[in-house]
Amino acid sequence: MTRQEPQECVLLKYGELALKGRNRGLFERHLLQAVEHAMRTDGEQVRISRREGVLVLSHGLPRHELMERAVHVFGVSVVQPALRTACDVGAATEAVLLALAGKYGDHDRGARTFAIRARRRNKTFPMTSHELAAHIGERVRDVHGWRVDLGQPDVEVVVEADKREVFVSLERHRGQGGLPAGASGRALVLLSGGYDSPVAAHRAMRRGLRCEFVHFSGAPYTDPSSTYKAYALLRELDRYQGRSRLHVVAIGKAQRALATAGAGKLQVIAQRRLMVRLASELARELNAQALVTGDSIGQVASQTLSNLATVEQASSVPVLRPLLTWDKSEIIAEAERIGTADISALPDEDCCALLAPPRVATRTGPGEFEGIEGRVELAELVPKLLADAQVLTVGGTRSQAGPLA
Ligand code: ATP
Ligand code: MG
Repeated sequence: MTRQEPQECVLLKYGELALKGRNRGLFERHLLQAVEHAMRTDGEQVRISRREGVLVLSHGLPRHELMERAVHVFGVSVVQPALRTACDVGAATEAVLLALAGKYGDHDRGARTFAIRARRRNKTFPMTSHELAAHIGERVRDVHGWRVDLGQPDVEVVVEADKREVFVSLERHRGQGGLPAGASGRALVLLSGGYDSPVAAHRAMRRGLRCEFVHFSGAPYTDPSSTYKAYALLRELDRYQGRSRLHVVAIGKAQRALATAGAGKLQVIAQRRLMVRLASELARELNAQALVTGDSIGQVASQTLSNLATVEQASSVPVLRPLLTWDKSEIIAEAERIGTADISALPDEDCCALLAPPRVATRTGPGEFEGIEGRVELAELVPKLLADAQVLTVGGTRSQAGPLA
């Protein structure tokens, strides 16, 4: 009988310990969708098959490309390149020798130590895990002359005997962890051009929130640089969920109206309340259950506890603040890790700087805003501003005509 050649594949492991019962089904459904989306190609399809607690990727793309895409998928805790072979002892042994030859050459007889870690999900496999590891270990010792060290080996070979096949791996990489996009619902992220909000978005997505994005520009009184930055950030963040959309709302005139209405040192908080009010209306339209911001306590004057509370009261949906307790240095380090820092560092004309008073009030309450907000007739202003919003999607399609705000 001719045996099939071992085949290259990638194992994605999720095994979230905390997932039980119905949650597990939901998790798996969203994870499969997220992986399918991440693996889309124009040519041959990537094959995705399901095992107990594992997804197996093969075909369609080179293995390094499968891995590069998989490490961005939330919900995947381990990304493990493997050789897949038939479910018998001889095939497993050959696959191990092939994997080692691929990495170390056919007859590497350097003074290495090694360990075979065998696991058996298939209890009808003809050997116990222990026997299988010993059997393969002997062959490796014959071929390479390496010494067994089960404690701290130079080379660790994992052999997993599954129901229908055996997987052999020499390495494993850490995935993003967390929960797959959409498993926790939908949220609307307030995305500025700064460091904080993209990191907050990443955290929200990591806990399974599918994110929509809104950016407020100071148009017509600012140039489009902050919108370009927000769009560039959107493209980076889209790697983690796909099909991302950015709603751009021009609030320059409304900001001016607040100033004319006498906001004074309340101007910045009045603008924040306007943003949050607009965002919560938009969230309802988009079926999003919460807002996400990059606020962190005390980072700037507008983020005192008192001001955060005053702003939050303008929202009709909960405001989530994943970075509430992070230091700026921690946020920047994370922005570097997830790839958004270089964009955030670019200069822009931010709407918040427009009309900012020399001193920002640090203690406010919602009552102080009744007069100002009444004078600018928010009830009519909000739907008007939202009706003029532009929608940008990754790929560059614009859903509304008009100059970029
Ligand atoms: P960031 O680095 O995210 O810009 P920041 O340190 O500049 O934050 P603020 O400017 O006070 O802090 O903004 C706090 C949060 O309010 C931001 O993280 C973001 O979620 C939201 N926000 C601020 N400005 C805008 C904007 N122009 N468009 C959308 N959201 C904004
Ligand atoms: Mg900002």
